Amino acid sequence: MFGKTCAVTAVVVVVAYLVVKRLRGRARRRRLLATPFPEEWRQIVEKNIPLFRRLPESLKAELGGLVNLFLAEKNFEGCGGLEITDEIRVTIAAQACMLLLNRPASRFRKLRTILVYPHTYAAKVVSSDGNITIEGQSVRLGESWQNGPVVLAWDSVTGGTANIADARNVVLHEFAHQLDQEDGDANGAPILEHRSSYVAWARVLGEEYEALQNKKKRHGRSVMNKYGATNPAEFFAVATETFFEKAKQMKKKHPELYEELKDYYKLDPVEWK
Ligand SMILES: [Zn+2]
Repeated sequence: MFGKTCAVTAVVVVVAYLVVKRLRGRARRRRLLATPFPEEWRQIVEKNIPLFRRLPESLKAELGGLVNLFLAEKNFEGCGGLEITDEIRVTIAAQACMLLLNRPASRFRKLRTILVYPHTYAAKVVSSDGNITIEGQSVRLGESWQNGPVVLAWDSVTGGTANIADARNVVLHEFAHQLDQEDGDANGAPILEHRSSYVAWARVLGEEYEALQNKKKRHGRSVMNKYGATNPAEFFAVATETFFEKAKQMKKKHPELYEELKDYYKLDPVEWK
C-alpha cells in the first residue's frame, strides 16, 4: 500500500514538473516574441537585408520578436574556420523568420542547428534516400536536412541577400525546404492551415511545375529560376524566393501561384514599398 502511494506521488510530481516546465517554456517564448530587436541587431538587419527595409513597420516589429526566439532556440556552428558572429546569426535568422511572419504557430520546430561555411563548399556526401536536399553538384550553396541541420555558405548568403531583384536567396530557399519537410516529406507541400487547401495547392503548383519543366526543355524565358523544374520540393523553394524577391512579376505572370503562396505565407509582398 505504501509502495503504491509512493508510485502515485512520484507520477504526480513528474506530471506537475512537466506541466510547469511547459508553462514556463510558453511564457519564455511569449516574452521573447514581445521583445523588440536589440538596437545593434536592428542595425545589422537594416544594413544587410534590403528586403527588410521594404517591410511595413508592424511586420518589422513582429520580425524582431521572431528573431529573438529563433536565436534563443537554434544553435549556429561555424565550419571551415568560420567564426560565428552576431552579424552572421542575425542576417540568417532575420531572413529565415520572414517565412514565419503572421504565422505564429510555425517556428522550424525540428531544426536545431545551422552550420555556416565561409564560402561555397565542396560536396562530401551524396545521398538519394529522400532525407536530404542538396543544392548544386560538386559545389554547394546550401543544404536542408530533414531532422538535421541547415547548411549555408556565408558568401552565398550575403550575395543572395544583397540582390533583391534576382529571386535568388539561399536563406529563403533552404528554410522553405525546412517548412516543406516539417510533415516528413520533401514533396513541395508544406503543412497547410486547412485540409481543404491541399487540393488547390496540388493543382496550382502541379500545373506550374509542369509548365516550368516545359519552359526548361524549350529554353524559354521564365520569371522563376528553372532550377525549380528539378523536382516539386525545389519548385516550392524556388517559388518562395520568387514570391519574396520578384513579387510583382510573379503576380502578373503566375497569378494563381502568387495567390497560393500569399495564402500560405499570409503576406502580400506586392504591397511592400
Ligand atoms: Zn533546394
